[in-house]
Amino acid sequence: MKCLALTLLMIGQCALGLPEHDSVPGGIALVPLTTDRNVMFDGRLVMVTESEGGYIAVVGIPLSCSPGSFHLDTAEGKVHFKVKEKQYEEQRLTIQNKRKVNPYAQDMERITRERAEMDAAFNHFSPVNRADTDFDLPTEGIVSSSFGLRRILNDQPRSPHSGMDIAAPEGTSIHSPAPGKIVATGDYFFNGNTVLVDHGQGLITMYCHMSSINVEVGQAVDKGQYLGDVGKTGRATGAHLHWGVSLNNARVNPDLFLNQENTP
Ligand SMILES: [Zn+2]
Repeated sequence: MKCLALTLLMIGQCALGLPEHDSVPGGIALVPLTTDRNVMFDGRLVMVTESEGGYIAVVGIPLSCSPGSFHLDTAEGKVHFKVKEKQYEEQRLTIQNKRKVNPYAQDMERITRERAEMDAAFNHFSPVNRADTDFDLPTEGIVSSSFGLRRILNDQPRSPHSGMDIAAPEGTSIHSPAPGKIVATGDYFFNGNTVLVDHGQGLITMYCHMSSINVEVGQAVDKGQYLGDVGKTGRATGAHLHWGVSLNNARVNPDLFLNQENTP
């Protein structure tokens, strides 16, 4: 198994410009295949890319996944892969606006509606030949909170951190790290002003807590296109961009898309 993992890593980093292989909860498994037809993980289509003489599935692994053996369903049968254990650190935060930690009863309808809207966006699977996965940080700033932290807000356990926080002054511009199409925008209860971009093959990125939004649903965006500005709307302790990256509706570590070498 060690050999296989090493080979995959080399394929990922040297030849194709794929995200990094890190088969852990919240990570990505690069799985070699002999077909690109009907490749599914847990009932969802997954990203498949051509490699020399074959294919590679780029599978998002949910943070909630328990380590163990898993498989992809394909047109040519099952293909197995393993998910290893990873311990994420704990982070304690104090949120001044208590309503953003324990919402009022009248907030729940709004929260449920917004969650459904974001879920629908994360479930998009647009067929493209090759999704661009070679990302730069979408804004200039300092990474202030990493992906996967087990969060305790005002002494209460909450969902783990599903993205990367980049601290930057309010008004700093945010740029799309790859071409795509805007699939949702909104002023959400927790996430504040938010933009979701569909890059194809189930790869969706999310931008939260923005002070302003400069794009509209349905609009096509280029790599590097201006999406809006950093802010502190929604549940935020200060001005920052919460940047989420999702593959086959699994929120994955944005780090795995940065610093790719030898991209074509
Ligand atoms: Zn965040």
